[in-house]
Amino acid sequence: MYCDYHFHTCFSSDSTAPVEDQIRRAIVLGMTQICITDHQDFDFPPGELTFQFDTEEYFRILRPLQEKYRDQICLKIGVELGIQPSLGEKLAAYYKEYPFDYCIGSTHLVRRMDPYEAEYWKGRPVTKALREYFEEVFTNIQAFPDADSLGHLDYAVRYAPNREGYDWKNYQDVIDETLKFLIRKDICLECNTAGFKAGLGHPNPTEGILKRYKELGGEAITLGSDGHEPAYLGQHFDRIGELLKGCGFHEYVIFEKHRPRVLPL
Ligand SMILES: [Zn+2]
Ligand SMILES: [Zn+2]
Repeated sequence: MYCDYHFHTCFSSDSTAPVEDQIRRAIVLGMTQICITDHQDFDFPPGELTFQFDTEEYFRILRPLQEKYRDQICLKIGVELGIQPSLGEKLAAYYKEYPFDYCIGSTHLVRRMDPYEAEYWKGRPVTKALREYFEEVFTNIQAFPDADSLGHLDYAVRYAPNREGYDWKNYQDVIDETLKFLIRKDICLECNTAGFKAGLGHPNPTEGILKRYKELGGEAITLGSDGHEPAYLGQHFDRIGELLKGCGFHEYVIFEKHRPRVLPL
C-alpha cells in the first residue's frame, strides 16, 4: 500500500490514537514507510482544542520508535502546520529549528474562523465563503513557501452547505494562481483521501484541480489519508491510484529531511 504521508496521533488535540497503534496499523496494511504529521496550529483561536503540541516531547517520543520499528517500517517525522497570514516568519523559524522530514502547509482558518464550524458559513453565499477560503490558501502559501506540500487544497468544501453544488471552476482564477505558485516554488500538491471519508465522492482537492495542476506542468503529488485513528489510516488509498493515473500522474513523492524522492503509483 502507498506510504501514508498525512495522519495524526494523540499529539494532535483532535486525536486520541496512541502513536504505536498507528504504526502497527501501517505495518498490518503493508506500508513500507509512513510520516506522522500532527497538527501544529500556532495562534489558534482559544477554544476546546489547542491544535498545538510540545515539539521537544514529540521528537523525544518519536525518535526511539523509529529505532524500535526500523526492521518493519521506515517512520518519518513530519508536521501539519496551520498557516495564517501573520505567521509567515514564525513558521519559517520553526521549520528551521526542528529536524522534520516533511512539513505540510494547511489552511484551517480564514480570518480566524474554521470552515469546520457552522459559523463560518453564515451571512454570505456559499460561493463567496468558498472563494474566501481559496484566496486565503493562496495568501497563506505565499506567506510560508518553505512548506513541502500544500495540504487538502479544497478542505473547506468538506463542510460547505450544499456542497454537492461545488464546482472548482467557479474559483479557477485563484486556484490557477495557487497551482502555478506551487510549481514555481517546488511545493508538492497533496491528494488527501479524507474527502471520501467526508462523503464528497472525491479526494481533496477534487479531480478537476488535480488534472489542472498536471496541465499547468505540475508533477509532484503527495498522498495522505488524514486519518485520526487507526481505522482510517490509508483509507481510500485503493481508489486514488487509478484516479491519479487518469489525471496523468505516474509517481508520488515521499521525503527525508525535506529532500523529495519519488515512488511509482
Ligand atoms: Zn488539515
Ligand atoms: Zn490533518
